[in-house]
Formats: sequence, structure tokens, C-alpha cells
Amino acid sequence: MLKYCVRCIMPHTKPDLFIDAKGVCSACRSYEQRTEIDWAQREKELAEVLKRFKNNGSNWDCIVPVSGGKDSTYQVIRMLQLGLNPLCVTSTTCDLSDLGRANIENIKHLGVDYVEFSPNPVVRAKLNKIGLTQVGDISWPEHVGIFTIPVRAAVQYKVPLIVWGENSQNEYGGPAAAAENNTLTRRWLEEFGGLLGLRVSDLSEVYGIDAKYLLPYQYPVVG
Ligand SMILES: [Zn+2]
Repeated sequence: MLKYCVRCIMPHTKPDLFIDAKGVCSACRSYEQRTEIDWAQREKELAEVLKRFKNNGSNWDCIVPVSGGKDSTYQVIRMLQLGLNPLCVTSTTCDLSDLGRANIENIKHLGVDYVEFSPNPVVRAKLNKIGLTQVGDISWPEHVGIFTIPVRAAVQYKVPLIVWGENSQNEYGGPAAAAENNTLTRRWLEEFGGLLGLRVSDLSEVYGIDAKYLLPYQYPVVG
């Protein structure tokens, strides 16, 4: 039988969502705990991090991965308010709507440098099909690229700080350790970041797509 959270009616079938004995889901519990967070302390911690990476004009201060949605727009506004000069990076979606394009233009006009990375559409079409038929996600390449492409940009442009958006395990429910985490790692990508069990290495080994066409979907090798 389907169980639903008594507060937000999210069903227990959502991957990684846990509903406790009182019928409340882990996302609602995270939300509840927000009133107990010492935001002044958090602000101090953020200032410390930003101070450490501020470049004073020799490079961009940080990368902000942007889609043009509410989260990334706010991240950019906040970085600008805090005096940083971010390089904004978009991993292009398969079919960007006019509204999506307008949102991206809006971000640029906040006053930032901006790079858009569009992966090979011929390879992308193959990956869309594999994603749909094998793991039920036609947007699989998009869901992986939003995590790998900003990291590639950071390495290529030698910008050591990436300011990521929401922690989805905290916002929408997930294991406690992941919900409290504030650093996005390779392990996180593999466990939660949209791979859905389809590994990038499978694409060359099982589906015969040459590894050299899969660069946008992999973290860069730093040697
Ligand atoms: Zn809930």
C-alpha cells in the first residue's frame, strides 16, 4: 500500500524518502529543523569560504552553475551582493524553451560573464534513447551533465570554487548524512546525481559509444 507523508503528501515510493513513525517524511523534517539553524554562524562560514577563494582580479572568484531557474538566479544575485565576480556556466538542455532562454538572458544581465556548453547533439540523441529505454529517463544526459560540465569548466578555467545550488537530499528527502553534507563529491554524483544506475562506463562498454564522445558526461581527469 502506498504511504503518504501526512504533511506534504509525498509518497514513500520517492527514491530515498523516509517516512517516520509519525508519518512525516525526511524532507518535512529537514524543513522543520531550519528554524534551529544558526544562520548568523552560517553566514560567517560562507564569508570564510569566499574569502579563501577570492582572486582579486587574477581570475573569476567562483563558478556558479546556472539553468536560469529560481535557485541559480538567486545564487548569482547573492554572489554579486557579496562582492564576488562569478563565471556562470550553463550545461545546455535538450530543448530549451523561449522562457528558459529569457531566464538565462536575465541572469547575464545581472552583470556576469557567462559560458554555455552544448554537448554534441548526435551523441546526445543516442544517450537520450538509451536513458529512456534503459533507466526510464530521457533526460539522463542532461541530469548528468549539469553536474559534470560545471566541474569541467572549473578545471579548464582554473577556478577552484563552485557554488552549487540546493542539496536535494535536504530539500526533498534523503539519508541524513547526505542531507547534512555541504560538499558535492564524485561519490554524491554516483549515488544521487541522476545516474540512476546507468554508469558512463556502460555507455562505451555495453552500447559501443566511443569514450572520446562522452567527455561532457564525465568528471575531468586531473593529473
Ligand atoms: Zn513531507
